[in-house]
Amino acid sequence: MSEVFQKKGDISVETAHIFPIIKKWLYSEKDIFLRELVSNAQDAITKHKRLVSLGQIEDDETAYRITVTLDKSAKTLTVSDNGIGMTEEEVARYLGNIALSGALEFIQKYEGDNPEDNKNGIIGHFGLGFYSAFMVADTVEVITRSHTGGETVRWVCSAEGSYAFTEAPYSLHRGTDIILHVTEEESAYLEGYKITDMLDRYCSFMPTEIYFVDETADTSDTEDKEPEAPQPINDTVPLWQKASSECTPEEYKEFYRKVFRDYREPLFWIHINADYPLNFKGILYFPRLNNQYESMEGQVKLYYNQVFVADNIKEVIPEYLLMLRGVLDCPQLPLNVSRSYLQNNTYVSKVAAHIVKKVADKLNSLCENERETYEGVWDSIRPFVEYACMRERKFYDRAKDAILLHLTDGTYVTLPQYLEAAKEKHENTVYYTTDKELQARYIALFESQGISVAVMEQLIDTQFVQMLESYDSSVKYLRIDADVAAALTEENGDTTDNEALTALFRKVSGKEDLEVKYQTLKDTSLPAMLTVSEESRRMEEMMRMYAMQAGGEVPSLPVSYSLLVNHGSPLVSRLSALTAEDGAKAEIIAGMIYRLSVLAQRKLTAEELNTFLTESFNLLSLL
Ligand code: ADP
Repeated sequence: MSEVFQKKGDISVETAHIFPIIKKWLYSEKDIFLRELVSNAQDAITKHKRLVSLGQIEDDETAYRITVTLDKSAKTLTVSDNGIGMTEEEVARYLGNIALSGALEFIQKYEGDNPEDNKNGIIGHFGLGFYSAFMVADTVEVITRSHTGGETVRWVCSAEGSYAFTEAPYSLHRGTDIILHVTEEESAYLEGYKITDMLDRYCSFMPTEIYFVDETADTSDTEDKEPEAPQPINDTVPLWQKASSECTPEEYKEFYRKVFRDYREPLFWIHINADYPLNFKGILYFPRLNNQYESMEGQVKLYYNQVFVADNIKEVIPEYLLMLRGVLDCPQLPLNVSRSYLQNNTYVSKVAAHIVKKVADKLNSLCENERETYEGVWDSIRPFVEYACMRERKFYDRAKDAILLHLTDGTYVTLPQYLEAAKEKHENTVYYTTDKELQARYIALFESQGISVAVMEQLIDTQFVQMLESYDSSVKYLRIDADVAAALTEENGDTTDNEALTALFRKVSGKEDLEVKYQTLKDTSLPAMLTVSEESRRMEEMMRMYAMQAGGEVPSLPVSYSLLVNHGSPLVSRLSALTAEDGAKAEIIAGMIYRLSVLAQRKLTAEELNTFLTESFNLLSLL
């Protein structure tokens, strides 16, 4: 018997202190005890496998397995494995005499801080995994037999930290049973559904088959039937571990359905298999959203050697990519990751950079090689891409060639394609609409002159446009009512002011300072149109957005617009003549032209609508 080995004893003074602290510290995330015990079981099996593969021990051909057994009447939960097991000495050394003084110091030092930040770090760092069992149990029994032979050992430890070796009630072939005597307080952990739920969360993809046996489950109605062979609860070779060339689209979709419980097909996916030195694997999915209002909150699950660690760790996956769904397995990160550990970790930032690159690469390759598919999903992924570009310049730089403009005629072009086609008519200017219906008249006007108009109907689009301009100031973005494109006007057309008409339009609009401009448009059927300065409109939009975000009343801001009168329109010539002949009639016609111009640009206010209707009837009564 070695000196560290005693038949009976107290774990150590420090340990006795540490139990209540562990309990307190880990309070909010008790569920992880099962993950810790099952991964210890997995480790024991991995060790055995390795010894076999090294030829140090013989393969006895028993299938490796982990069994979780719930016995509600006995109030026990048992985690069993057939891994390497432990000798008496090993139990005493590994479980009865751990170097806790460091952990105790650490805990005391940080006790005042937010436990959320550090607790995972403590468990992982000091190898307290086994002790997490005491969050739910007052007594833990370890029954184990080492692969080296010898007796089966029984070790019982209380929550106060005192332990004893006693005779084992049964003997094992090889491996370990960890039996938790669950406390009254934590009896929730004696419910089958709870355990199933936890196993599902943490252990769904562990590499050894895991069985769940619920001794208390009602079997009365299955008595007559042939007992079914028990099925493992986990998938031991999850899809991300396979080479992407070995996975079919069906498998990717099935995996997505199972893991994210989303029955809509994902749009597409990226299978990442990063070799040395990053060594991580994963699959990222672009989810299909029902509509733009659906939250873009995704879910990226982090695994450590197929053991679930946590959801949405934004230190590993940039926050803007968290709109995706997926799994990442990083065996180089500890099972218990703490935020502070991740934040300053160069490995973690390299993983994040690699993921960003992979996502951008995928967009580029789809855009280049599978254009039709890409166009089919573009409207769905667009808010994501725009948001990501705005969040990180690096992402924009990588993905910018995969940004599409959706044109009013339903086609899609990249920005370089748009600019190339626009070269002759409106160099370095992109025309866009924010409302296809309201601005239909303008769209028709632009389209009739062969100018393509991009649809930018979402709030994020306008912000995105600002970002694009700030990155490349040589390209301007103008809403179609901002300016008359040169291509719409006659070269050397008449632009002289007509003071009589200006006065008349000011009168009928009720705006004494209305700006009235004159141009000769190619489209002679259009007497006049409103134009709204791009800059002042954006300013107003921004102020409105701030007001909305601040939750205050959204101010109705004065919109500064001009009336553009078309010298090329026969109606305008008639009106001009009429101002001298029949002032009253000219006023009715001018009022109509003005009101219709407003109508083509935006919705009329109640007052405007009333005036418009009165004017219309007046006009009809001229018949
Ligand atoms: P860690 O797993 O982080 O080392 P634990 O407190 O969970 O810390 O376990 C301490 C040690 O006890 C392990 O390193 C391992 O040697 C041993 N151990 C725990 N569970 C088992 C098991 N099921 N089979 C064999 N050895 C085990």
